[in-house]
Amino acid sequence: MSSTPAPVVVVGGGIIGISTARHLAVAGAEVTLITEGEPTSNASGRSLSWLNSAGLRSEEYHRLRLAGIDRYRTLAARQAGVDWLRFDGGLAWSALGDADGLRRQHEHELALGYDSHLLDPGRVAATVPGVDPAAVPPTGAVWNPGEGWVDLPSLAQFLLKDLVEHGGRLVTHAGPAEVVTAGDAVAGVRTAAGERHPAEAVVLATGPAVPAMASRLGVAIPDATPISLLVTTAPVDTPLRAVLNTPRASLRPTPHGGLAVDSDWTTASIRPAGGGFDVPAEIVTELLEEASKLLAGHPRLVADRYAIGPKPIPGDGDPVLGRADEVGGLFLGFTHSGATLALIAGELLAHEITTGTPHPMLAPFNPRRFR
Ligand SMILES: Cc1cc2nc3c(=O)[nH]c(=O)nc-3n(C[C@H](O)[C@H](O)[C@H](O)COP(=O)(O)OP(=O)(O)OC[C@H]3O[C@@H](n4cnc5c(N)ncnc54)[C@H](O)[C@@H]3O)c2cc1C
Repeated sequence: MSSTPAPVVVVGGGIIGISTARHLAVAGAEVTLITEGEPTSNASGRSLSWLNSAGLRSEEYHRLRLAGIDRYRTLAARQAGVDWLRFDGGLAWSALGDADGLRRQHEHELALGYDSHLLDPGRVAATVPGVDPAAVPPTGAVWNPGEGWVDLPSLAQFLLKDLVEHGGRLVTHAGPAEVVTAGDAVAGVRTAAGERHPAEAVVLATGPAVPAMASRLGVAIPDATPISLLVTTAPVDTPLRAVLNTPRASLRPTPHGGLAVDSDWTTASIRPAGGGFDVPAEIVTELLEEASKLLAGHPRLVADRYAIGPKPIPGDGDPVLGRADEVGGLFLGFTHSGATLALIAGELLAHEITTGTPHPMLAPFNPRRFR
């Protein structure tokens, strides 16, 4: 028997909140999605959004990511031809001299049945058009043909349309909303303007704001959120379709013919500025030069825009998804790799809320693991 708590309020209009609200609405829940500003105005609006389960991680996390990719494949099949979701593969290599690390990663992936090929530089050009084989170290690169990328703002618009068509409500520009409790359970959400939205279940999907908001409710969530930079280029003449992950630059095509580029090393140069963040212009230039070196013909890359802000990452690196025991009716959605996980996380959180039953795939990711 269904024990749907009604109504449900989702706080946070990033891709995790949007997907959860959409899945709740499709499941028949009475749902309101409340967000501070515009949808995807935070991490989801400046994400590399490589869809993958590459590398070494727990088997449970790998399975969750594969389920995430599976939902994207279904969406791609149903929306054939969209320019914002592609499965053209991913090519990765590690720092020069880390041949062991690359081989270990490849063997781990093979053991899990993840489509993985170790290519020497000579085979890269024929397999991954647009890459300069001279940029690939002699130790080679790992090619994962099943990987892809998504443009999260486009996905968000697609899901929001579905949300509204299924009777869900979207409240934007609400300012910082707060969860209201009565006794030891949620009672609703109050917007910055004081508007109250009663609820029997509340999903906190406020990205980097989850740990602080949960803490005010007595729920401790360790936080390892860094500040990161994403640069988007003007259109580039390159046949590259795959995602590239390399020590000095990661990049993928955009729907507008440009490239989205990031790399962890840029974080050290980010400084607070005017209530937000900024980075010296030379860092943007250097990042684009590093990206250009990876591409056949080394095209000049010109920044169209760059965006800086928090990249939500829980303290132990694993997703935090599910009911918080401390407050009745409170659910959390706080995760790294939220692009890969967006569809499956929203689906499984909606399942837990509408059925009142924990989902076994979310058991390892419930916030109670920190108690
Ligand atoms: C540079 C970069 C590269 C990335 N690369 C990848 C990748 O390759 N693959 C991958 O899978 N993932 C990647 N990610 C991670 C992924 O983009 C994020 O995990 C995902 O976008 C997080 O979505 P979210 O909805 O949790 O958070 P957010 O997108 O940050 O959304 C949270 C929303 O909540 C709103 N909000 C906050 N506080 C309140 C409040 N009090 N009241 C109302 N609203 C509030 C904010 O305005 C925001 O809209 C990357 C992220 C970044 C930044």
